[in-house]
Amino acid sequence: MFRKMNSGEQEELKKQILYEIEVQKHQIESLQKSVEPVVPDNAIGRLTRMEAIGSKAISETALNSARTKLAKLEVALGKVGDPEFGTCRRCSNPIPKDRIMLMPESVVCVACAGIK
Ligand SMILES: [Zn+2]
Repeated sequence: MFRKMNSGEQEELKKQILYEIEVQKHQIESLQKSVEPVVPDNAIGRLTRMEAIGSKAISETALNSARTKLAKLEVALGKVGDPEFGTCRRCSNPIPKDRIMLMPESVVCVACAGIK
């Protein structure tokens, strides 16, 4: 069952990763705007300010996860040319593309990831 990813598949995957990197970058950019300090402003009421602080916390969480994902994608991008990339380190079966896109840092397939 051992099958390495061919260069066409690697190229395809690389495009997907690059696209995903762009998506994350855009997200980070727009989230950064919403995590700017909430300025005390008399024009907005007390309740609105509380809401602004609340949504800022949500944006910060989203921003952190987008940054983490971006870092993982960049690592994955650097490994695309690697002949081992996309192959399970444990059983040598190909790792499904969907899994690579979701968890680019994974070096084992779904079945092996379940083995502890
Ligand atoms: Zn495996």
